Amino acid sequence: MQDDTIAAISTAIGGSGIGIVRISGPDAVQVGDRVFVSPGGRKKLIDQASHTIHYGTVQDEGKTIDEVLVSLFLAPKSFTMEDTVEINCHGGVYATKRVLETVLKNGARPAQPGEFTKRAFLNGRIDLSQAESVIDVIQAKNEYALCNSVSQLKGSLSRKVNDLRERILYETAFIESALDDPEHYSLEGYPEQLEIRMMDLIRILESLISSADNGRMIKEGISTVILGKPNAGKSSLLNLLAGEDRAIVTDIEGTTRDTLEETISLGGITLNIVDTAGIRNTQDCIEKIGVSRAKEKAESADLILYVVDSSRPVDENDEEILEILDGKKTIVLLNKSDLTPVVTKEDVCSFTKYRFPVLEISAKEETGIDALENLLKEMFYQGEISFNDEVIISSARQKAELVSALESLKKVLESISSGLPEDFYSIDLMDAYAALGRVIGREVGEDLVDEIFGQFCMGK
Ligand code: GDP
Repeated sequence: MQDDTIAAISTAIGGSGIGIVRISGPDAVQVGDRVFVSPGGRKKLIDQASHTIHYGTVQDEGKTIDEVLVSLFLAPKSFTMEDTVEINCHGGVYATKRVLETVLKNGARPAQPGEFTKRAFLNGRIDLSQAESVIDVIQAKNEYALCNSVSQLKGSLSRKVNDLRERILYETAFIESALDDPEHYSLEGYPEQLEIRMMDLIRILESLISSADNGRMIKEGISTVILGKPNAGKSSLLNLLAGEDRAIVTDIEGTTRDTLEETISLGGITLNIVDTAGIRNTQDCIEKIGVSRAKEKAESADLILYVVDSSRPVDENDEEILEILDGKKTIVLLNKSDLTPVVTKEDVCSFTKYRFPVLEISAKEETGIDALENLLKEMFYQGEISFNDEVIISSARQKAELVSALESLKKVLESISSGLPEDFYSIDLMDAYAALGRVIGREVGEDLVDEIFGQFCMGK
């Protein structure tokens, strides 16, 4: 438990209906009583029950600062597990700051960014993976990201990691006992059993690790590149998705010279879209740079939207685009479906060797976007993600620790197949145990803890 009392403004600072000044620590209630005055002047917060709300004013040396409602949360039933007082005042910048100033004058010190959550972690209310998900909830850009972060905050990842740790600990305990007390514990046939159990743990870890890519896309958005010949309708598509005239649309080929980037939300999925210069052989030097950038962007993209103009035949420029698509998640959008088709869906399927889904759209008439939305959900989130049983890793730090645990467990398998003695298994099992512990914040250094909480906003 920390021995000092901290305070900060927990709401966004600006003109708003309500602003909240939060106080947490052993003297939170006393500090609250020094600034809070009830209507009759006799009611003291110290005499009140936990989880109650009280009307009154905040006063600084007899002068009323604001009319407030004060919420009281007594330890351990608060976010930080400490006594906590929340002063709900008016949301104006000056009013909220004056209330905080008065609180600080009366015995609290200013909280560091994320310090309330850090206390929740240090006091054992949440583990590190849950603390990290608090940042993710605050920063969530879409419905999927929010659902995933809330699920992690509730402890979905922690439960999974704790289960893995328990299973590993059981094995080490068994090995140690058998080595200490061979009369009662036999290691006869044990390596074979351990091998089976290790394979199961490895499978679980691998699936968690592979979810990290999905986690990144949920959190940061799917990095998407729009490719297609000049005039296929790439800029029109981007404008339609973005809902504004972001890109220049003309019927002069090669208008989109460079790449444009746009973050859009489609049915709760975030796409970070790059519109590229049309791919074609060109002598125009500026356009050439655009073309090579388009290829570069496509290289690292999660998704390619390949726009084909259905009113013109496919040609060698499309062949060149097909090469870029190799091994990439791609959706072919057969655009200009409002015009008389020269290229049909069948033609595109056979041209692309049936590798990619093809959707007919019209960027001009704004049709086919619902089908695109459904297909994206299908491709990236298997329709709807069920967050109850699927745990998705959303931090690079967590992923790195899981990879390290996986490597240690693979070493156990190697030791088994090389016929090494059992005490060798223990070392690697304990390494895996420690790496998993670090995911949830066991055995992590103060530096890392400070670094993680330093990313938080003030007042959280
Ligand atoms: P880009 O070079 O691939 O970015 O193509 P643009 O978006 O600039 O579009 C080229 C031309 O095609 C413009 O005149 C658009 O108005 C037109 N266009 C784009 N999409 C459609 C569509 O769905 N139907 C029709 N009829 N015209 C379209």
